[in-house]
Amino acid sequence: MSTTEETPVVEKAANFIRNIVTDDLKNGKHKSIVTRFPPEPNGYLHIGHAKSICLNFGLARDFGGRCHLRFDDTNPAKEDIEYEDSIKENVKWLGFDWGEHMYYASNYFEKFYQYALVLIEKGLAYVDSSSADEIRAMRGTLNEAGKESPYRSRSVAENLDLFARMRAGEFEDGTQVLRLKIDMASPNINLRDPVIYRIKKVDHHRTGDAWCIYPMYDYAHCISDAIEGITHSICTLEFEDHRPLYDWVLDQLPVPCHPQQIEFARLNLNYTVMSKRKLLELVQEKLVDGWDDPRMPTLVGIRRRGFTSESIRAFCETIGVGKSDSLIDMSILEDAVREDLNVRAPRAMSVLRPLKVVIEGYPEGQTEEFEAANHPNNPDMGSRMVPFSGTVYIERDDFQEEPVKGFFRMAPGKEVRLRYAYIVKCESVVKDEKGEIVEVRCSYDPASRGGSAPDGRKIKGTIHWVSADHAVDAEVRLYDRLFSTPNPGGKNEPDYRTSLNPKSIEVLKGCKLEPSLASATIEDRFQFERLGYFCLDMKDSRPEAPVFNRTATLRDSWSEQKR
Ligand code: ATP
Ligand code: MG
Repeated sequence: MSTTEETPVVEKAANFIRNIVTDDLKNGKHKSIVTRFPPEPNGYLHIGHAKSICLNFGLARDFGGRCHLRFDDTNPAKEDIEYEDSIKENVKWLGFDWGEHMYYASNYFEKFYQYALVLIEKGLAYVDSSSADEIRAMRGTLNEAGKESPYRSRSVAENLDLFARMRAGEFEDGTQVLRLKIDMASPNINLRDPVIYRIKKVDHHRTGDAWCIYPMYDYAHCISDAIEGITHSICTLEFEDHRPLYDWVLDQLPVPCHPQQIEFARLNLNYTVMSKRKLLELVQEKLVDGWDDPRMPTLVGIRRRGFTSESIRAFCETIGVGKSDSLIDMSILEDAVREDLNVRAPRAMSVLRPLKVVIEGYPEGQTEEFEAANHPNNPDMGSRMVPFSGTVYIERDDFQEEPVKGFFRMAPGKEVRLRYAYIVKCESVVKDEKGEIVEVRCSYDPASRGGSAPDGRKIKGTIHWVSADHAVDAEVRLYDRLFSTPNPGGKNEPDYRTSLNPKSIEVLKGCKLEPSLASATIEDRFQFERLGYFCLDMKDSRPEAPVFNRTATLRDSWSEQKR
């Protein structure tokens, strides 16, 4: 059996599940562990699923075990191959690999059926011909025991016959079900003769019309786990009350093993919704631009927004795994990507809302190049040459004709530093007929080449710029939280849709980017100096018409903004 020396040492933050696994390996209960991630292929994965993926695949990786990807496709009506492909792709993107171990619960349909026969033969399951309403009425309440169905005492032979005929398609949907015979008086409602098979004359996307009876989740899930030799079946807290049923089913059947179900708290994030139903509604009602809308909490959305898989894994590590429900602040997710990109994203200069600045006295037609560091703290990331000419763009926000107190950027008569280039001074402004400033004219100090004054005079403000002759034109999309309240559809909100943030996307056209960004690829991430972290939009960007998404601002300015 396994010895302590063989047990891998794990440096990750401890949590109660890691402790269970460590003990099970140490005391020889298991030689190695097998976990699984069991999505229903009826929607796209979201950040909550990422928590489960990181937990299950992370345990397998850290303890030298394996993790199965299992499509829990026992419900025929809702499943779709499109979802399956996306789920696989997302798990891989998160950095995990199921190797040979991809399974479908639908592959076990025959086994589920055979095990149901075992239960019937043991007198532990019966066919109930009551209607769904009658079954519901007989279930009882939390304080009141349920009533036994008049069909509960059917003989084994009769049950075997009826169940075979259910399979053969002799009955209509909803007319018969197979139920476990446990205890209608159990204080745990899940044990009051739960339904384990129903008739549904619907084709299944993998098994076609081979079946017209389908097993229920609580019955199929534990058996699937046992068939696959899962050691730790990790699920969210709402299944805690189902655990006695999970164990009951496996205790009655000649299954190869009896996995341990362990529950943990699901991830809840504020300022978003995570229920698949609501996400689907947002897509279907065109309240967002598809599943991969960069404002969605889906992994396809988050990825398109520019989040790295490293930052998602770090986020999941940060929030930890516990036993009590909690609400995680969106800023923790945003901080995770800032922290990652701050280290790895090269810097670049881009102007989102351009204001033209003409440098008077700068030799006509001259161009210079200035060396700019790609990262302020990491010389290994090298540098690039940024071209400068007599006309540049700066941010509109970086100019004030009548500067408010404490404004140290460009203003009439004031000196300001164009980063890496020269110290300039605003001499005049040009306005259009509506009185709007369309151009600023500056003088420059040729001796300040590189950005510092030779006489050491102090220049308080430094702003970024892009040379007009060299700029790359681009569209830039700025995102804000999809909802403007922390708990959309919660207290005092009639519907989650009414809490949609009308300013969750802002599309800026005619942005001016430094020319090095023309060669950006989909994998690249940048910090646009002073503006945030950006990446190319993987869907809409074209080489001749680049589109950048803002992944995150530089700081958590959200609470300030909204005040
Ligand atoms: P539904 O919305 O239909 O109830 P689901 O969110 O449970 O679906 P599944 O596809 O069944 O979606 O989920 C696959 C796995 O992901 C399950 O093991 C589930 O426990 C886990 N999971 C789902 N949502 C979260 C969440 N918010 N936090 C942590 N784990 C989650
Ligand atoms: Mg589910």
